[in-house]
Amino acid sequence: MKPAPFDYLRPQTRDEALTLKAEHGDDAMFLAGGQSLVPAMNFRMAQPTVLIDIGALDDQATITIDPASGALHLGSRVRHRQLEFDPQIAATAPLLAEAAPLVAHAQIRNRGTLCGNLAHADPASEFPAVMLALDATFWVASTAGKRELAAKDFFLGIYTTALEETEMLVEVVLPASPPRSGYAFVEMARRPGDYAQMGVAVCMALHETGTIESARIVLCSAGDTPMNAHNAASALIGEVPDQPVFEAAAALVDQDIAPLGSVHASAEFQRHLAQVLTRRALSIAGARATGERRQAA
Ligand SMILES: Cc1cc2nc3c(=O)[nH]c(=O)nc-3n(C[C@H](O)[C@H](O)[C@H](O)COP(=O)(O)OP(=O)(O)OC[C@H]3O[C@@H](n4cnc5c(N)ncnc54)[C@H](O)[C@@H]3O)c2cc1C
Repeated sequence: MKPAPFDYLRPQTRDEALTLKAEHGDDAMFLAGGQSLVPAMNFRMAQPTVLIDIGALDDQATITIDPASGALHLGSRVRHRQLEFDPQIAATAPLLAEAAPLVAHAQIRNRGTLCGNLAHADPASEFPAVMLALDATFWVASTAGKRELAAKDFFLGIYTTALEETEMLVEVVLPASPPRSGYAFVEMARRPGDYAQMGVAVCMALHETGTIESARIVLCSAGDTPMNAHNAASALIGEVPDQPVFEAAAALVDQDIAPLGSVHASAEFQRHLAQVLTRRALSIAGARATGERRQAA
């Protein structure tokens, strides 16, 4: 199929893009990488009358590290491919770098943007889960100004976010990792490049004594938003990072998810995957955190 007719606008600055969005409201949609929007338009699932192409906003394609806080700042046009290969991402947000090659295929990663992916809010997507695991902050802007949102408050449901009609997601900020921290992203997909049947993002940090001081476990394809496994993560706090502890925590993940099932994976199978993958992710993250602690000692 072909898309319904639309007007195509290509602003050169962010202010210009926001003014156009304020003017056209819900009739207009931002076009970033087009990897989700264009197929949706071709299927007539999305029928914007105006497309605002944000591909020319060069000031939005930046990756910077705040020298004072160590936080990583990602502009709205940062592409999946940069997340996969940029050395600054590998050094400061290795969880994001680990998840990036699991998203779609190389051709799609060349075009797709992190902010487009997050604004699309597919609960099967890897990046929203990674954002919650990394405790990201999102900056959104309109002609009325800017506001910040915690990643955990951004995703409201399937393809639904806290973005208002006239707002653009303009920046993602990831705090620096605490010392002695480990991370892992693992998933099960039918074929490379497919959306995951289940995926798990884990971050943990150790106390200097070696026990687990903080942990976040977030799953994709596990409900209608990225699912934060609070119960499982809480069970880790104060414990020594070893296999029995990880197994006990992984058994609790079932309480925190509500997988929807599909023709390829029943909800029951997804629940099984969630436990197995959480155990694996915790083992990897625990080993990385322990290795970092040894190196620091
Ligand atoms: C075959 C295929 C396989 C895929 N597999 C995966 C996968 O395994 N995992 C995965 O996570 N994704 C997958 N994707 C989706 C891919 O990651 C998309 O690139 C991503 O979802 C959208 O990013 P985009 O930049 O292309 O956004 P677009 O398609 O341009 O836009 C998506 C939506 O976000 C809005 N938008 C874009 N930018 C902004 C912004 N800055 N502020 C506000 N709204 C904005 C648009 O208006 C639109 O509603 C796949 C896509 C395809 C086609």
